[in-house]
Amino acid sequence: MCGVFGIYGHEEAANLTYLGLHALQHRGQESAGIVTSSESRLHRQVHMGHVSDAFNETSLAKLPGSAAIGQVRYSTSGESELRNAQPFFFEYAHGALSIAHNGNLVNASKVRKRLEEAGSIFQTSSDTEVIVHLMAQAREPESIERLASALRQVTGAYSILLLTETRLIAVRDPHGFRPLSMGKLKDATVFSSETCAFGLIEAEFERELEPGEIVICEGKAVRSYRPFDATRGRVSSRRCIFEQIYFARPDSTLDERSIYTSRVSMGHVLARESAVDADVVIAVPDSGVPAAIGYAEESGLPFATGLIRSHYVGRTFIEPQDSIRHFGVRLKLSPVRSVVEGKRVVVVDDSLVRGTTSRKIVAMLKNAGAKEIHLRISAPPTTHSCFYGLDTPTREELIASSNTVDEISQYVGCTSLSYLSHDGLLTSLGVGDEDDSGFCSACFTGEYPVAIEDAKTAKLVSISKRQAASVDGAS
Ligand code: AMP
Repeated sequence: MCGVFGIYGHEEAANLTYLGLHALQHRGQESAGIVTSSESRLHRQVHMGHVSDAFNETSLAKLPGSAAIGQVRYSTSGESELRNAQPFFFEYAHGALSIAHNGNLVNASKVRKRLEEAGSIFQTSSDTEVIVHLMAQAREPESIERLASALRQVTGAYSILLLTETRLIAVRDPHGFRPLSMGKLKDATVFSSETCAFGLIEAEFERELEPGEIVICEGKAVRSYRPFDATRGRVSSRRCIFEQIYFARPDSTLDERSIYTSRVSMGHVLARESAVDADVVIAVPDSGVPAAIGYAEESGLPFATGLIRSHYVGRTFIEPQDSIRHFGVRLKLSPVRSVVEGKRVVVVDDSLVRGTTSRKIVAMLKNAGAKEIHLRISAPPTTHSCFYGLDTPTREELIASSNTVDEISQYVGCTSLSYLSHDGLLTSLGVGDEDDSGFCSACFTGEYPVAIEDAKTAKLVSISKRQAASVDGAS
């Protein structure tokens, strides 16, 4: 869960990257960083916190040059601390190099152990750093070949931007797990995790990078390079389906489809699959809104704002005692009594992970006088953890990994609970069956397209498998 942004060939590279990172803030709030390239030097500013807190006029003034890369981070690997804040900066035998990464490598610990045994000294605890060490060790004379050699040794999810003194290089892994788009701003080439950043800086969207594609900007040239061998099955699209459901911003486009339109469509299918007699449809804001609108459209029920979200809450630092434990969610969400009182309410949310949020929302709506609460989730049950860069909890914490829909419904306290079916989800996204969908749906199916090699993560998978066996056995 990170966002990356880059620009090559614009005199305001740092300022535009700052704006681009603003548009990607939803992808990570722990740290923000920018590295620029000018006169054969790289300049770096990284800080903890949100983009608007991390940068000011003074820090942006320290970032001269016409090429820049930036990252907003939410740690899924490595601790949340300044030394892990990206973009990283390294000097090695071939010059200066900066890297910003979205995704999660699934063999990084194994590769790191091998490198450390051979004498490498790591500066961070992030999986990203192994790529740079592998590049430094590569024997190939050309830097793109050294990069390709490094990438052939890592597995998992990576959308990467690299900056050297002369080049900006963008990479999407051979499965294309995480998104990465490119566009144009006058003569400059821009890259972004999501297209919503192009809207902000008035850049024109060109296309998404293909899985396994490397794009190199150097001088006036922009060229494409595909070092992964499709015939040996290394390149096969497995784009993250959860970006469509929850993570990407609704004003972004992915796979040539508007995220907003896809989510409304999920609501349409959900309403067809799990219709119920009710008086009003409300959303859990913000991420549940498009699907709730779709549900209302399809069911003919009125849509209303039954929950208000405060946009001014950061993290809740107090860990309340039992007596005030519900403050956490109430700080963020508050019910509108006049909308729900005495009503049979359909509540649409995009996903149910641990179930704790839904439980609190249901209690809140009951307190506000709702007569019935029909919870509708615009995604299938989240039964498996993600190892490719989304922050999902361990399998034990995923309520749907070991409970039936009825059990979850009882825990949450709602009148009824239904999820969107997996086929329904694919229909909403305009694709046929799972096999040729081109999506990674591991969080719903447990079918991981790339083996999880790291011992720590592998342990989680073996727990998953054991649990799956006992759940399957029970059912
Ligand atoms: P819970 O079931 O209490 O774990 O939380 C479900 C809520 O968290 C839903 O409203 C989702 O919109 C939201 N959500 C889903 N996935 C994530 C994620 N990876 N990180 C943060 N929030 C999430």
